[in-house]
Amino acid sequence: MNTTEQRNRFLAFAFAGADLLLEVDRQGVISFALGAAHPMAIDDASNLLNRSLLSLIADCDAGLVRYLLASLETVKRFGPLRIGCVTEEGTEQIMLNGCRFPGQEDVVCITLSYGDRNGPAIATAARDQHTGLIEAQNFEDAALEAIQCAKKAGQEIKLSLFSLEGQEAFASRVDGEVAEAFLEQTGAILRAKSYADTAGLQGDGKYAILHAADVEPSAITDQLQQASLSLDPKKEGIRVESGSIEIKSEMSAKDAASALSFAVKQFAQDDTGIIRKEGLSRSLEILMKETGAKMSSFRSALTSDKLRFMQQPIVDLQTKALHHYEVLVRFEENQSPFQMIRFAEDTGLIMELDDIILKQAIAHLSHQDADPSLKLAVNVSGRSLSSPKFISNLYKAMTKLNFQRSRLMLEITESSIIEDLDQADRVIQKIRKLGHQVCLDDFGAGAASFQYLRALTVDFIKIDGAYIRTALKRKREAMLLKAMAGLARDLGIGTIAESIETEDQSTMLQNLGIDQGQGYLFGRPAALHFLQNSGQAA
Ligand code: C2E
Ligand code: CA
Ligand code: CA
Repeated sequence: MNTTEQRNRFLAFAFAGADLLLEVDRQGVISFALGAAHPMAIDDASNLLNRSLLSLIADCDAGLVRYLLASLETVKRFGPLRIGCVTEEGTEQIMLNGCRFPGQEDVVCITLSYGDRNGPAIATAARDQHTGLIEAQNFEDAALEAIQCAKKAGQEIKLSLFSLEGQEAFASRVDGEVAEAFLEQTGAILRAKSYADTAGLQGDGKYAILHAADVEPSAITDQLQQASLSLDPKKEGIRVESGSIEIKSEMSAKDAASALSFAVKQFAQDDTGIIRKEGLSRSLEILMKETGAKMSSFRSALTSDKLRFMQQPIVDLQTKALHHYEVLVRFEENQSPFQMIRFAEDTGLIMELDDIILKQAIAHLSHQDADPSLKLAVNVSGRSLSSPKFISNLYKAMTKLNFQRSRLMLEITESSIIEDLDQADRVIQKIRKLGHQVCLDDFGAGAASFQYLRALTVDFIKIDGAYIRTALKRKREAMLLKAMAGLARDLGIGTIAESIETEDQSTMLQNLGIDQGQGYLFGRPAALHFLQNSGQAA
């Protein structure tokens, strides 16, 4: 084979995996360009010569690329990295690989490809603009994708957490620009070492990454410390603590991602104090183990015959006539399910519960022995409403019903968990169009209730019990209640007040114009024995 043939052969290899080949120096100045540059709105790749690679890259990713080019000594090969590329219409996601050839210390060969290689969750995850790291709320989905990918590839991966002590003090010691540069480097170091670009920002100075099992967290710790020292005029730097855990392959990818995300959340809040007491690695191990065990026990509770249901009446406040019942779950007799529900919401298991109750309620209402005037409201967590799988099950369950749809209502609880309000509203409207009424639960309990009301069109709001419990004692709460009632009336939305225990409360709420009430005064939760349809169509 002559030299030209050989060259063509290697070019063919290169183009098999990429659309654009570049050679750049340490500063990113392009000295060679071959291939297609159309995403950058450039017809001829040669027009890229002498331009900076960094000028083609979105701000949140530029730090990572700058870092990789500068660390030529330590990094011989990097990628595939998903980065944002600046185009005429905005930013487009592309894949970038890099390699340094032995003997050519100042040159990095870069390949860019425009196809979608990583999963959608990593691609579309919201990223912090200073560090380029995945925002906390998107970390679990990205982790799930990365774990699935590693499983397929038979690759062992680990989760590592990094806690940067004194980051705030450092930031106040140095210039704003230096603090920014440090954040950029932190993001770059973590992303460069991560698996499938799954590196996340979990809170101030708290980071989590998934990485190949052979990546040493201590090396990352050293690099982070070095970065802070080199930027610190006082040369004090910051202290980095790290902890790691293997992602066990015997857990399903979904459970592993949920357990990991739960552990990471605890790490970010550390409200149990376990991290302070046990250190990062040990507490991570404990948290993952406990979470895994709790998840399996929650799942077995869902199928156990101990699972019970209660119903509590909601009445018209003027006439006291029964309007409908709310279905409440019990895992243990006479015990509030609150803790279990909280945990299920944190780990995503809640949708499995919501799914079961919804189907049972449908079976009950469609049963021939059921009272035809019975109306049930089922709780659906905001978390479930964000899950494509739950939504598709919900639509399926709701397609063929042999009873009047107004007999089945939904109460949306924990709306604070809803990430995409527009998407949730689309689901709610589809359900309402079918003929089901939807209620926004715990209204006023969170700071963002009005925001939810703005984004979600519902038939009722259920005002949080906290207002009802205090309104007779505190004028302020009574005024707030009055305002909520007025607002709902103006919007044409019905109002329900919960936790009504006394006649005085009931009268006050009635005077404020609240439509319906629920509470011990009208009836405590009582056993509900779901009727099971045996084989006939629901
Ligand atoms: P929630 O939806 O706000 O339900 C009302 C809670 O207040 C129930 O507690 C009920 O027993 C209690 N309650 C009712 N009347 C009174 C009263 O007059 N005074 C007082 N002090 N409390 C009253 P429960 O059953 O312990 O449920 C706690 C929470 O757990 C529920 O709050 C709901 O968010 C969640 N939950 C319960 N069942 C389900 C379910 O099937 N699915 C989902 N996703 N969440 C559920
Ligand atoms: Ca409720
Ligand atoms: Ca409530």
